[in-house]
Amino acid sequence: MITLDPAMLNRVIKPARYTGNEWNSIKKDHDKVNVTVALSLPDVYEVGMSNLGLKILYQILNNRTDTAAERVYAPWVDMESEMRARNIPLFTLESLKPVSEFDVVGFSLQYEMSYSNVLNMLDLAGIPLFTAERNEKMPIIVGGGPCTFNAEPVADFFDCLILGEGEEVMEDLIEAVSAWKQSGKADGRVGLLKKIAKIEGIYVPSLYDVTYHNDGTVAKIVPNCSDAPAIVTKRVVKDLNTVEYATRPIVPFLDIVHDRIMLELFRGCTRGCRFCQAGVLYRPVRERRPEVLLKMAKEMVDSTGYNEISLTSLSSADYSCLPDLVQSLVDDLKEQGVSVSLPSLRIDSFSIELAQKVQQVRKSGLTFAPEAGSQRMRDVINKGVTEQNLEDAVSAAFQAGWSTVKLYFMMGLPTETDEDVLEIANLAYKVLDLYKKITGRRGAKVTVSVSCFVPKPHTPFQWFPQNHASEFERKQQLLKAKLRDRNITFNWHDARTSFLEGAFARGDRRLGQVLLKAWQNGARFDGWSEYFKYDVWIDAFKASDLDPYFYATRERSFEEVMPWDHLSSGATKDFLQREYQQAVQEELTCDCRREKCSACGVCPGLGVEVLDWGNKA
Ligand code: SF4
Repeated sequence: MITLDPAMLNRVIKPARYTGNEWNSIKKDHDKVNVTVALSLPDVYEVGMSNLGLKILYQILNNRTDTAAERVYAPWVDMESEMRARNIPLFTLESLKPVSEFDVVGFSLQYEMSYSNVLNMLDLAGIPLFTAERNEKMPIIVGGGPCTFNAEPVADFFDCLILGEGEEVMEDLIEAVSAWKQSGKADGRVGLLKKIAKIEGIYVPSLYDVTYHNDGTVAKIVPNCSDAPAIVTKRVVKDLNTVEYATRPIVPFLDIVHDRIMLELFRGCTRGCRFCQAGVLYRPVRERRPEVLLKMAKEMVDSTGYNEISLTSLSSADYSCLPDLVQSLVDDLKEQGVSVSLPSLRIDSFSIELAQKVQQVRKSGLTFAPEAGSQRMRDVINKGVTEQNLEDAVSAAFQAGWSTVKLYFMMGLPTETDEDVLEIANLAYKVLDLYKKITGRRGAKVTVSVSCFVPKPHTPFQWFPQNHASEFERKQQLLKAKLRDRNITFNWHDARTSFLEGAFARGDRRLGQVLLKAWQNGARFDGWSEYFKYDVWIDAFKASDLDPYFYATRERSFEEVMPWDHLSSGATKDFLQREYQQAVQEELTCDCRREKCSACGVCPGLGVEVLDWGNKA
């Protein structure tokens, strides 16, 4: 166990990031369990503690009497310097034990720009960065989260990666590790990895070989042993009502990003926005039953003392029993002073009555995501909402007393022209005018947030080129010049960060060298603008003799082998190509749970079904 010197903690900001002992945290005697797991998100405590997937796994794993699961997050730069100066290895928050002493270390990979933190954390832990350099005494390094669906850029550093939902597969993994330990680690580390590769949904990159064509594209990725399947397909929980949920989440001592109860109504989203990776990765829609959600909510209020419940899903307003659920939650929990919040509202399913019921929304303003300014562009991305929908929703909100609206957009979407970009400004002005028309006065506040579109693997847009960073910057200036009203706030994303995110999102295994070099030259916390060092990354590409534009801004043909073709979300390539064609033709595809199945392949391929309780009743 590591002792933390109070003098050291006094010197770092937010020492509570490192001391543990929070309400609902679980400490187990490591001598009394078979398997120890360190669960991590490679970012700072406040971000890591807000991740729902890790909260769920923490509870599921700690429910097992044979397993102890603890947490570790990336120490902030000040703490890292203190730790390195004093030779303190990376430690977990529960037992303050070195991470290197654990059997399994799991990283949730939410965002490509967190990869340098993974290397930094492994290094701080004293664990060799490369899977090939680890021995039997060292932990198994596991990745999870959306980035695993193209794990190639980090393939050399991970022993295995989990595709899809972790509830069931993590238990399978623990069983395999436990059996291996009990067998005296039979057949060594490779033996374990070969066993793990047989578990559905687990990808062991070292058991696959990659070859390239002369032009730098991938020729093939094939297993190098019979234990590894040619295609690894994601795991999916068939019925969310029957699996454990994070009903006793840890209550932190400091403000975290989502400092409230997270009630996950359902997984998946079948609206079919063509840019959205989560929409493909988490298919099909599987709702929890309202009575199960009510029970979970009460349990969470009792176990935490929180007074806010956030209804968290990809598109919470689409929950089929939402009005009744919100009413029941408000009725059941009002005596305890608990409020309910919806993090985002879909324009077309917006109901002012619902928003009024949800008191929290009023305080923070309303958020809508039209995603694109022009109707043409919204049809390309299959957003399925019209300007009229937005006008109706905003008008209803203004009539009910709201005056602050946030609008989210993307720029750089496939086929986008300058006219499409400028339509974003027109929409913002229309919202201001609507307020004046409805209330007779000025004074509405509109925030326009525009991110840079990054084409992601497993989406219909995976073949499209990303805009160059300079092109993004030009479009940002174009829009800035149009948005000159003091009631409009314009926020935009850093184009260079998005460009690198784009290179890694569709990268291949060779990018491991780039990552290593960038980290060696100081890259970490790249998702944080104050620490993002663009030149370090560009130099790392040069030193590796690789071109970031090859990965980010190159158009791919349908024939090209993608570095993630051996990793399946269940959606077929045929479906993605059909959607690509529909996008180019500006044609819409309907929501498969409410209208007609668009034959994406997930339900028949994975043996799952859409679960939509409102429609079944
Ligand atoms: S198979 Fe059909 S119903 Fe199932 S997720 Fe795909 S499109 Fe929707």
